[in-house]
Amino acid sequence: MRLDTLLARASQRLARAASPTARLDAEVLLCHVLNVDRAWLYTWGDRPLDPWSHARFDALVAARAGGQPVAYLTGEREFWGLSLLTGPSTLIPRPDTETLVAAALARMPAEEGELLDLGVGSGAVALALASERPGWRIQGVDCNPDAVALATRNAERLGLTGVSLEVGDWFEKLEQRTFSVIVANPPYLADDDPHLAHGDVRFEPRSALVAGQRGLADLYYLIEAARAHLLPGGWLLLEHGAEQAEAARRALVARGYDAVTSECDLAGHERVSLGQRPA
Ligand code: GLN
Repeated sequence: MRLDTLLARASQRLARAASPTARLDAEVLLCHVLNVDRAWLYTWGDRPLDPWSHARFDALVAARAGGQPVAYLTGEREFWGLSLLTGPSTLIPRPDTETLVAAALARMPAEEGELLDLGVGSGAVALALASERPGWRIQGVDCNPDAVALATRNAERLGLTGVSLEVGDWFEKLEQRTFSVIVANPPYLADDDPHLAHGDVRFEPRSALVAGQRGLADLYYLIEAARAHLLPGGWLLLEHGAEQAEAARRALVARGYDAVTSECDLAGHERVSLGQRPA
């Protein structure tokens, strides 16, 4: 069968299985099997597929039709232009989180500095920042050893040597260390968020998604605890849910941060809130 016919059939099947991105899913899975990019598929759509690749593609399409995230099937996802390995121990990097990267970069003008990423997961945020600020020392922490192992592999694969990664519960292992920037994409969904029942999040670790106090508990904890680990004039930046910006700003102001503000993601939702430790 020709590649373009096969793709059309696979995307119909995925659309029936309620994937919102059926055509793209089919293309990404076929690219993965053939180790080619999407431009190649458009150019060579009249080529036949060998039986071994065909069987592998069918198996991946069947798994996707069963709801498995594409990023777990291919084992990778692009974030901030970097190809990152993904796995079931961490969240799949999301475009929304690029808002956190951009907001942090705007507060990292210096040639060098020290940044802490709490809940580093696959390493997406820490590695994106390291790729943009080679002079900075970047520390990533996660309570899940599998996440730290994955982030470490990603750092090695990308050759980003300025990043050090360790297992720890938030600030637990950091003693008195202070940083010029602290970032986090903590869990922030309420445990009954309807969104948890749909799509890729069903397969992601709940510990990376759900927090107490209607999703605000970890955000509140970080706002409270980060102050002791920020240099004077240092910034705290937190990703949160679209409805949580006001609560985050209020907590930042109540804890004495200056220059408190929020920034929107590409969909126009307030996605990141931030404040500065007084100098
Ligand atoms: N933005 C994610 C979602 O809505 C939640 C990620 C998180 O809790 N950090 O699926």
